[in-house]
Amino acid sequence: MCPAKKRRSTLQRRVIMEELKKNENHPTASELYEIVRRRLGDISLGTVYRNLVLLSDMGIIQKLALMGSETRFDGKLEHHYHVQCIHCGKVDDLHGLPSELLVKLPKKHNDFLITGHRLVFYGICSKCQQEGD
Ligand SMILES: [Zn+2]
Ligand SMILES: [Zn+2]
Repeated sequence: MCPAKKRRSTLQRRVIMEELKKNENHPTASELYEIVRRRLGDISLGTVYRNLVLLSDMGIIQKLALMGSETRFDGKLEHHYHVQCIHCGKVDDLHGLPSELLVKLPKKHNDFLITGHRLVFYGICSKCQQEGD
């Protein structure tokens, strides 16, 4: 890659990371694309998506396993749980869970060595509750 191109992709990655860390709504690649586009101008959705996948492979951000067709991303790395609205798909961080739930994982179960877990709560967000009235 030529130096100018390399500088540009480093800048793109930095802006994508900064905007995701600022955003608490667990955006999809397209939502984040709309935001970084305002700062970077000519960037494609594909580039944003590729960078998000790369950053999550590097362990700098989290890729969320949730229902719905589009992958969502989280700039917050420390372990926390999510609650997702079954109507609109909105995702929030879930606060107030006892912390022992986060750490008391069996290391082994049957033939498995346990390396992690995923747990997502589902519900109806306040906006969708109002619309249901
Ligand atoms: Zn909702
Ligand atoms: Zn989160």
